[in-house]
Amino acid sequence: SIEVRSVSKQFGDFHALDDVSVSLPTGQLTALLGPSGGGKSTLLRIIAGLEDADAGTVEIEGRDATRLPAQQRNVGFVFQHYAAFKHMSVAKNVAFGLEIRKVAKEEVRARVDELLRLVHLEQFADRRPSQLSGGQRQRMALARALAVRPSVLLLDEPFGALDAQVRKELREWLRHLHDEFPVTTVFVTHDQEEALEVADEIVVINAGRVEQVGSPDSLYDAPASAFVMSFLGPVT
Ligand code: ATP
Ligand code: MG
Repeated sequence: SIEVRSVSKQFGDFHALDDVSVSLPTGQLTALLGPSGGGKSTLLRIIAGLEDADAGTVEIEGRDATRLPAQQRNVGFVFQHYAAFKHMSVAKNVAFGLEIRKVAKEEVRARVDELLRLVHLEQFADRRPSQLSGGQRQRMALARALAVRPSVLLLDEPFGALDAQVRKELREWLRHLHDEFPVTTVFVTHDQEEALEVADEIVVINAGRVEQVGSPDSLYDAPASAFVMSFLGPVT
């Protein structure tokens, strides 16, 4: 599980996160949902170890990670704009994390094949990332993040830059992938429909505080505040 306890973060006088605690069970797909500027990315970056909290602790799968650097947290992440190695093939991009960890060649090949199948890119293994569509590139990014078998997968608006139709396909696909391959996943989005459709549990974050935590149904049926009610709004 991921245990975030009383995490606070200020930028100057501004409280980006104010005493945030959340408990995310192993194998769960959690959506961090909230308006722009609410603190979602800051919380994700603190879980990843890309940013230090001013106060509070982060535990990942039973291990105190508060002071561990990102490389030692065994997390995979994917951002909205994915930085691929442009000069390497898709297969090489997916293999990269394994090669720097000195995983044996045979094993690298087997894992890359398996992952490319999982993200339905097996026929694109030899292409360059620039020859993929945006949705295919984000699938490659997911394969690359999963290659090192992270205990936690952190996704910051991974489909945010894509058009509505592709987003919809990818969110269904992500749900399917997660059911097959249930890595503890935190998925940041400001799109309520996306959160309601994809997540096992939703954490609503606004102005640096947790507004509500619950299943999609419970949030929709019983919003805890006027904010949550208005934010979830009528789903179209
Ligand atoms: P969005 O949906 O727009 O991505 P978010 O919920 O991810 O928003 P954060 O990126 O976590 O929001 O930012 C929370 C607040 O902290 C914002 O007001 C932002 O301006 C501020 N902030 C984030 N990073 C920094 C920084 N490095 N320096 C100063 N302020 C920052
Ligand atoms: Mg953000």
